[in-house]
Amino acid sequence: MKLAVIGTGYVGLVSGVCFSDLGHEVICVDKAAEKIERLKRGEVPIYEPGLKALIDKNTAEDRLQFTTDLAYAVKQADIIWLAVGTPSLPNGEADLSYIMEAAKEVALSISQDTILVVKSTVPVGTNEKLENLIRSHTGHTVAMASVPEFLREGSAIKDTMNPDRIVIGTRSPYAQMKLVELHEPLTSNIIVTDVRSAEMIKYASNAFLATKISFINEIANICEKVGADVTMVAEGMGQDRRIGSSFLKAGIGYGGSCFPKDTQALIQIAGHVDYDFKLLKSVVDVNHDQRYNVIRKLEAILGDLHGKSIAIWGLSFKPETDDVRDTPAYEIIVSLLERGAMVRAYDPVAADNFRRSFSALDVQYCPTAAEAAVQADALCILTEWDEFQRITLNDIQSWLKSPNLIDGRNIFSEEQVTGTEFAYYSVGRPNMN
Ligand code: NAD
Repeated sequence: MKLAVIGTGYVGLVSGVCFSDLGHEVICVDKAAEKIERLKRGEVPIYEPGLKALIDKNTAEDRLQFTTDLAYAVKQADIIWLAVGTPSLPNGEADLSYIMEAAKEVALSISQDTILVVKSTVPVGTNEKLENLIRSHTGHTVAMASVPEFLREGSAIKDTMNPDRIVIGTRSPYAQMKLVELHEPLTSNIIVTDVRSAEMIKYASNAFLATKISFINEIANICEKVGADVTMVAEGMGQDRRIGSSFLKAGIGYGGSCFPKDTQALIQIAGHVDYDFKLLKSVVDVNHDQRYNVIRKLEAILGDLHGKSIAIWGLSFKPETDDVRDTPAYEIIVSLLERGAMVRAYDPVAADNFRRSFSALDVQYCPTAAEAAVQADALCILTEWDEFQRITLNDIQSWLKSPNLIDGRNIFSEEQVTGTEFAYYSVGRPNMN
């Protein structure tokens, strides 16, 4: 099939590249000319394991193109995908301006009947709004479908190629048939729903996962007070098939471009129909507070943080990505700076993005983990990059001024810490030494 993907970000680029790898002809469109120029030169604008090799292969085999010319891409496409961003507005609602603008451009460019798939995460009812908008700008028939995306940054290719399920929400039997055909090589688990249910599945899924994270983080906070170990508690809980072991890892809370904005948006969606989603509001509050445990623990060890040198390892919201949108590291660093601490930070791939996104922060970025730690009063681990897990506590101690470690992701085990001189604070486990 011929596919046009509008929006070449984390979702659009990965989806487009994976579809091309399945043998389809894909044109990825973005209005960010610099991004498209880089892709044409063979550079990948985001960090995503395995992506470059697939781009190189499929461009070489002439199945994958990049352009800023939306009309060119759309004219040739059997199926058009909207994968533009839907960030949060200040009141928490999803900002639909990008997707509305893209849909209008599509409507003005199509020259035949076509299928338009909404892959962006959009509030319930948005597909209908988009359909009305498109109808008012074209005489062609556009079959609409909501196919929400569930990939995780850092394992996006694997998730796209082996999805747990594909959800297709559409009223059009033709769109359903073509989309089932397109996705069948990926999974036999294709769930066909009405459009509103498909839109809701995405929000409900993310809200549930966020709830699991805030739940285990609250259990962790209680574990610290009652002397239990959340790692063991989570393992014991997770063995129950009704609960499941994923998303039960205690830490400093979720971040990224999806959970924070999608939970806020769902609270707003509920609010618009006079429903107070109390549970989800608490999930958001718990998550927000959780990151400040790092500061509380630092103060418990060091007292006043004014003039203290604090090393930060990890700036992305999770490992294997350079995405720093809504990363917990941001608020933690802001708090440290407000308290007069000096911050030296290191991240294996996200430092440039962080520096660009938060240029007002007075942070010293270091080229290695060791350099960030040298002569620091304490080290805070905020992202569980593999690289950090390979560094020994002996090395860390030799770099730091004093052996103080806040392990926000529980990467070190009790056995590793036992017998060392570290004042070691993790999440939901006994403080040591
Ligand atoms: P992104 O910000 O990385 O990419 C969006 C791209 O769309 C940008 O490159 C932007 O320049 C482009 N764009 C905006 N308007 C355009 C237009 N009119 N024409 C052409 N290009 C345009 O966003 P993302 O992370 O890929 O997310 C896209 C959507 O997918 C969002 O709704 C998000 O909630 C959802 N989603 C994201 C993830 C994720 O892990 N990132 C996972 C599941 C769902």
